[in-house]
Amino acid sequence: MAIENVIIIGSGPAGYTAAIYAARANLNPLMIEGYQAGGLLMLTSEVENFPGFPKGIQGPELMAQFKAQAERFGTRFIPKNVSDVDFTGKTKKIFIDKETYEASAVIVTTGAATKWLGLESEKRLLGKGVSSCATCDGAFFRGAKLVVVGGGDSAMEEANFLTRFASHVTVIHRKDHLRASKIMQDRAKANPKISFIWDTEILEVLGEEAVRGCKVKNLKTGAVSEVPCEGFFVAIGHEPNTHFLKGKLELDPKGYVLLKNRPTTQTSVSGVFAAGDVQDTIYRQAITAAASGCQAAIDVERYLESLHH
Ligand code: NDP
Repeated sequence: MAIENVIIIGSGPAGYTAAIYAARANLNPLMIEGYQAGGLLMLTSEVENFPGFPKGIQGPELMAQFKAQAERFGTRFIPKNVSDVDFTGKTKKIFIDKETYEASAVIVTTGAATKWLGLESEKRLLGKGVSSCATCDGAFFRGAKLVVVGGGDSAMEEANFLTRFASHVTVIHRKDHLRASKIMQDRAKANPKISFIWDTEILEVLGEEAVRGCKVKNLKTGAVSEVPCEGFFVAIGHEPNTHFLKGKLELDPKGYVLLKNRPTTQTSVSGVFAAGDVQDTIYRQAITAAASGCQAAIDVERYLESLHH
């Protein structure tokens, strides 16, 4: 089997951008897109903050355009998930069940998955008032009453951001204290549009075609009540898609790929690079993911060049 120049594992803005750059550098990249190609943007509706689209664009349409651009320059795609990797040799091996692919360099862009509460009603109302991204969807809720679930920095940031549009934001947290950093807590607590409901878990998101509230249970008293709202934002963290990389690349305690030579995209293994949300615990935007995908492709070009000398 031929040894590929570069295999990109994962799609999304980082992967497709890496593919565009690698393809235009004549590296003939192979992308293993995953069964759910396109990443988190496939789950959003309108994207209003991606530069170049002043009227906004639907998330899936934006990803289709990224892919078409990667395809135009000759990227090849495999719509499957990687089951295992072997990065120990100079040639990197990637396994999709019983098939083996080999490459001189690898770019990991498998992204992160939003953590959800796991309620049936949450799934059913996704995009109909349930969201996991205030930056993406906040502007659709002007003048609305909103709920944010979670007690970390993400939840505080989302709650604060949402007060630009909402008439009121209620943060519902399962404990009586926040995990968020002091400065983020103080900011949220000082915001007159934000109130808190403590020690409370969500039993159900209410509504048929659109969110109209949520049913909650106080974990100390057992009392069940309803909180009316038109938007329900889940901000309980993200999980990087790195299960197949454990023991193969250095990961941080939360499972994100650690970059070892910033500002490059080099991981702990020579010849393996990472871009996008899989290595980003801070920004997690389509545009920052795309930018790091570009960096990874340029890093690969230089790495391959160095192998020839
Ligand atoms: P965290 O893991 O820090 O917080 C998750 C929060 O959600 C916790 O309060 C947790 O509760 C709660 N939670 C988790 N699972 C559930 C569940 N099933 N049901 C109900 N509640 C749940 O994630 P974040 O995304 O907030 O932050 C991740 C990292 O990113 C952190 O390091 C953070 O500092 C950083 N970050 C920084 C920002 C900034 O500085 N501007 C902005 C956003 C993130 P509990 O407390 O009970 O565990």
